[in-house]
Amino acid sequence: GILIFILLISAAAAYAIDKYLNKNDTPEETLRRAIAKGEIVPFYQPIVNGREGTLRGVEVLARWKHPKAGYISPASFIPVAEKSGLIVPLTQSLMMQVAANMNAIASKLPSGFHVGINFSASHITSLTFVEECLRYRDSFNRDDLNLVIEVTEREPLDVDEDLVQRLNTLHENGFVIALDDFGTGYSGLSYLHDLHIDYIKIDQSFVGRVNDFPDSTRILDCVLDLARKLSLSIVAEGVETKAQLDYLNKNNIVFLQGYYFYKPVTFTEFVMILLSKPKV
Ligand code: C2E
Ligand code: CA
Ligand code: CA
Ligand code: CA
Repeated sequence: GILIFILLISAAAAYAIDKYLNKNDTPEETLRRAIAKGEIVPFYQPIVNGREGTLRGVEVLARWKHPKAGYISPASFIPVAEKSGLIVPLTQSLMMQVAANMNAIASKLPSGFHVGINFSASHITSLTFVEECLRYRDSFNRDDLNLVIEVTEREPLDVDEDLVQRLNTLHENGFVIALDDFGTGYSGLSYLHDLHIDYIKIDQSFVGRVNDFPDSTRILDCVLDLARKLSLSIVAEGVETKAQLDYLNKNNIVFLQGYYFYKPVTFTEFVMILLSKPKV
């Protein structure tokens, strides 16, 4: 069942890209060219400290800035990138753009500001990953930012020793490790002992279910309880309503991300948001 579902998703994604380009090109070839032309760009979604109303950081989300179609969602090209290995050059391109963007506003960023990028497992287990991350860190003018590695995978995460070891090395080197989509994976729990995780991101499918009815928080209550028992710090994503915000506040979840606060925005828009906030 799952496999067929994944195949269907991939086919849909391939089709989505297909309709934008020459008939002769495969989706992979189309994407390869887009990466080379710098058409994959970073959007930034602010993460807020709900208690203090300050900006805690940003998550970088890939967008394809297509000359004809406008901005294309990552759901249509990240699966193609992961399947073809193009996720490595795609993410490298984002890392360079993100460092350049952050350097351009270096004096405006609060100390400890979090800058998170999504990394697919197949990239993390590639041979040069640790080296790439260390170079990425060196490309920042500021050395007091928190560079976050969000471990992301839509398919069940195949966590092997290699992945754990690489992430732990980066953790020792000052990187912040975040586990994305907590509560949705298959192997999510078995390796939590070996992996030095700084925080987890509660998936929006849990947060999105919260409404004014007491019953609606049952699953989220369990996920939060699990996270607390494992002593993991928590970021809640997909916060869209006041009811969700109130629930999270009541449960002492401080770091929040979602349309209730900000959507993912261009770098220019992010700079305006940053400048409109008092510096802390
Ligand atoms: P994710 O890492 O879980 O990112 C959060 C997604 O939720 C983003 O979708 C964001 O726009 C969306 N979101 C944020 N707040 C809200 C909200 O309040 N309500 C709702 N309904 N959605 C909200 P987006 O940008 O379409 O990205 C989808 C997924 O694609 C990401 O999920 C991530 O898994 C993947 N992705 C995006 N960029 C990259 C990347 O550069 N590399 C990799 N490997 N994956 C990426
Ligand atoms: Ca993420
Ligand atoms: Ca997520
Ligand atoms: Ca997700």
